[in-house]
Amino acid sequence: MSRLPHGIVSLVCLLLLTSTVAAQGIAQRNILDIPGMDSKEAIKVNDHIYQAVGFGNTYLIKTKEGNVIIDTSNGAFATKHQTMLRKISNAPIKYIIVTHAHPAHVGGVARWREKGTEVIAHTNYPKFRDYQRRLFGLFERRNAAQYALPSFMVKRAQEEFLKPEFDATITFEKEYKFNLGELTFEIYHSIGETQDQINVWIPELKAAFIGDNMYETFPNIYTLRGTEFRSPIEWMASLERVIGWEPEVLLGSHMLPLQGKEEIKKKLTHYRDAIRYVHDETVKGMNQGKDVHTLMSEIKLPKELAIGEQYGRLTWSIRGIYEGYVGWFDENPSTMYEVPVSAVDKDIVELAGGPDPLVKRAKDLSAKGESVKALHLLDIVLRTHPSHADALQARINAYKGLLERSVNVIEQGWLKFGIRQDELTLKKSMSNPSSAKN
Ligand SMILES: [Zn+2]
Repeated sequence: MSRLPHGIVSLVCLLLLTSTVAAQGIAQRNILDIPGMDSKEAIKVNDHIYQAVGFGNTYLIKTKEGNVIIDTSNGAFATKHQTMLRKISNAPIKYIIVTHAHPAHVGGVARWREKGTEVIAHTNYPKFRDYQRRLFGLFERRNAAQYALPSFMVKRAQEEFLKPEFDATITFEKEYKFNLGELTFEIYHSIGETQDQINVWIPELKAAFIGDNMYETFPNIYTLRGTEFRSPIEWMASLERVIGWEPEVLLGSHMLPLQGKEEIKKKLTHYRDAIRYVHDETVKGMNQGKDVHTLMSEIKLPKELAIGEQYGRLTWSIRGIYEGYVGWFDENPSTMYEVPVSAVDKDIVELAGGPDPLVKRAKDLSAKGESVKALHLLDIVLRTHPSHADALQARINAYKGLLERSVNVIEQGWLKFGIRQDELTLKKSMSNPSSAKN
């Protein structure tokens, strides 16, 4: 266990894995923070299935021969979920099924595990955990930035869930089935949000557990924290398998239970079609020779396929698909070298007659609502004059302008990170007036 007091670890896990952060005093509700997280009672889905709501959910499935847990939430919710679900049944935990290796699903594995409990995951689960270990420093930095947390706290939380007691005991390639009591558990590899994603089907209950392959917002086909390629083709195939089951109950890791065959089919089909539209339009544009930024600005979901973008975002997904398929090269010979565009920043500033005219133009652009263009100009100024007070203030204002218009919690996290960084530099710059123009 961590040497940090449990309460602190829990707090870190909670903050790390939810984005209800209150940086700059602005609380933002994450679309994945579903109603009921503060409830002390589990939801009874039917006589066998109970859901403890959290980030993410924990499911208890009761059988005559013992219980099965599907996903275990993050470290902060795990204890509470266990208390809630133990009230429903105290029978032995025969299996824990982990839909994928993201911390919001793995966090309670060690807590639920008993002597003889099997932990089932896909063969890519240990590989995905290795990937997270390999990029530990990068995720530590990016999680701290995105969720406004001290780095040491993020480090401890990451160390915790990557411990061996969170490993699987059974892994499989394509499918794995077992019977327990009166129920059958069919588990399928279901690539989508991750390469190790698995979905579970209990035919006797017509219940499908979809993990993170669907939530009530456009999917994160790319996420800014960083991810391996999330293949829309495979994601769609996984959704189609679930549609084919004709579930009457749909249980996701970040949503409330959905009931009713027709309603579930409609939602799953809509989700699949939205992914297909974005994928197909991106591929069409790539073949036509359109660059990634043109596609990011051109492709919009048609009205009938609209989905909120409070978590996943179309533009990031388009770029994720483009670069996931062909990598970073954009057919422009000048970008194949190690000399970046920023290498001519100094020349641009000199030609403009110093930083001030560029800052003025940036402010004009911001005033017209063109905040991103303003950011590009200010980036040029601040790369050459990192303590330029006027430029720093203009960039903070541009970030704030974007923040006001944002509905996406991840975008908000990064804008707030930018504001924090610049406010810190500005404070230092103002305490040393000679540097305020540099
Ligand atoms: Zn996930």
